[in-house]
Amino acid sequence: MDACPRCQAPLAPDAKFCPECGTQVHVQPVHAELVEMRAAPRSNLPSPWSAALLSIIPGLGHWYAGAPKRGLIFFVAIVGGELLGIDFDLTLIGDIVGIPLGVGATGLWAFCAVDAYRIAARRRAEST
Ligand SMILES: [Zn+2]
Repeated sequence: MDACPRCQAPLAPDAKFCPECGTQVHVQPVHAELVEMRAAPRSNLPSPWSAALLSIIPGLGHWYAGAPKRGLIFFVAIVGGELLGIDFDLTLIGDIVGIPLGVGATGLWAFCAVDAYRIAARRRAEST
């Protein structure tokens, strides 16, 4: 049992102040640091924010999140349509896979980042 350094009154193990004289009792922060280190997140799971950021290159976020085929559809629809000047008629494919391919390259790009984020978040939720 610890005792107050000033008045020698008995102290509870987690006491920060002496109940008798109000003296602050020195608290060692070592325990809290150890708990934080042990609670560090597992790094082998895709991070949703990283997936969204990687989608600056269309499809890369999906590849990172573990959905490379879905990413390839985004890549072809965004990069193929923009750089090659080909107006893909992918609305039928878009309906099948649930991607709104009719919104244009910029809107599709934004949707791509959100979609990659959601896939990574779902993957993380499933593994816990
Ligand atoms: Zn005291």
